[in-house]
Amino acid sequence: MGASAAYHLAQGGVRNILLLEKQQFFGQGATGRCAGGVRYQFATEINIRLSLASLPMLERFRDEVGQEVSYRQCGYLFVLTNDADVAAFQRNVDLQHRLGVQTEWLTGEEVRHRLPLMKFDDALAGTFHPKDGTVDPNSVVMGYISAAQRLGARALTGVDVTGISVSGGRVEAVQTSHGSVRTGLVLNAAGPWAATVGETAGVHLPIQPIRRQMFTTTRLPELAKDFPFVIDFAQSLYFHREGDGLLIGMSNPHERPGFDQNVDEDFELVNLEAAIERMPLVERAGRASRWAGLYEVTPDAHPIFGGTPVEGFSVVAGFSGHGFMHGPVAGKLMAEYVLDGHFATVDVSMLDLARFEEGRLIQEYNVV
Ligand SMILES: Cc1cc2nc3c(=O)[nH]c(=O)nc-3n(C[C@H](O)[C@H](O)[C@H](O)COP(=O)(O)OP(=O)(O)OC[C@H]3O[C@@H](n4cnc5c(N)ncnc54)[C@H](O)[C@@H]3O)c2cc1C
Repeated sequence: MGASAAYHLAQGGVRNILLLEKQQFFGQGATGRCAGGVRYQFATEINIRLSLASLPMLERFRDEVGQEVSYRQCGYLFVLTNDADVAAFQRNVDLQHRLGVQTEWLTGEEVRHRLPLMKFDDALAGTFHPKDGTVDPNSVVMGYISAAQRLGARALTGVDVTGISVSGGRVEAVQTSHGSVRTGLVLNAAGPWAATVGETAGVHLPIQPIRRQMFTTTRLPELAKDFPFVIDFAQSLYFHREGDGLLIGMSNPHERPGFDQNVDEDFELVNLEAAIERMPLVERAGRASRWAGLYEVTPDAHPIFGGTPVEGFSVVAGFSGHGFMHGPVAGKLMAEYVLDGHFATVDVSMLDLARFEEGRLIQEYNVV
């Protein structure tokens, strides 16, 4: 979010942008640990509209931003194994069709036919959209930062934001591990850490860090080149090609909020067993790598865009585990908000911070 916002602000003519990152490298937060999945298949109109704006930006990324980002359109195949999910996805697909997203509806038989290496005897139905797929997160982050720097933005690593100074209800300065920076405008794009940054300005952001983890396998020569991003929805279990092997992840429904980013080895076994159950050939693969990262979860699984009660202090965070794909448009929207005072590309005004106090929550069913 920070990299995209910096680029879009610079492109909009802002020259005194300072992007601060506490780690030694950019993109080591949620973005660098994510699965790289991008999809049009969502359950709410606003998420579909964000995808309709953001995914084409990733398709055009090399031409517009000057960086190859390896957009692989393998399609997301959601597999549905209970009646409640089938009914909900039927409504979702109707909504997607109305908004111009031509998701395909598959019968259980068609799911099994498309996934010959997997065991889905219990599949009742599935949904598939061919332009969903994967994109390389690091290329997107570095593409935006390099382009922003070419346009005059400054981007520093190893600088921890320790506080936001507020006076008379307005932002005055940012305190960092390397000193203070006077400014009247701060954009909080700290992902899973956004609430911590918000607290320092006296602003409560309902964003909780929730650990999610995954692993990759060694080479699996049987895998088809066009193997889709498969999601066993009821189990929140997913598989996609990563090089010559697979990336496999699963959400632990019992994970409690916290900043621990170590792999939970007990849950990794649960994930592995569930994966082998669905795809027996995984048993023959080795584990190539594994890691954990943090989702940045809000009470309605939708992000927060825009101002806070402190003048000059805005936020773009809380994407609840599917924000990488919306990063391009999110940064563009924040540049519009800062420069013109409103969101033009997609109307995200309902995703304001005040909705939580005012009870205007939005529910998203397709959270993995
Ligand atoms: C395991 C996993 C899988 C995921 N899979 C997908 C997926 O397939 N598709 C998808 O779209 N999304 C996915 N997500 C979600 C996605 O990663 C996030 O929604 C998105 O990356 C959030 O971006 P961000 O810029 O808000 O946060 P981040 O990428 O975390 O960026 C915030 C940055 O702020 C820095 N920071 C924090 N505090 C401070 C401070 N005080 N001072 C200075 N710097 C600070 C952090 O170091 C970090 O680099 C996944 C997430 C995880 C954890």
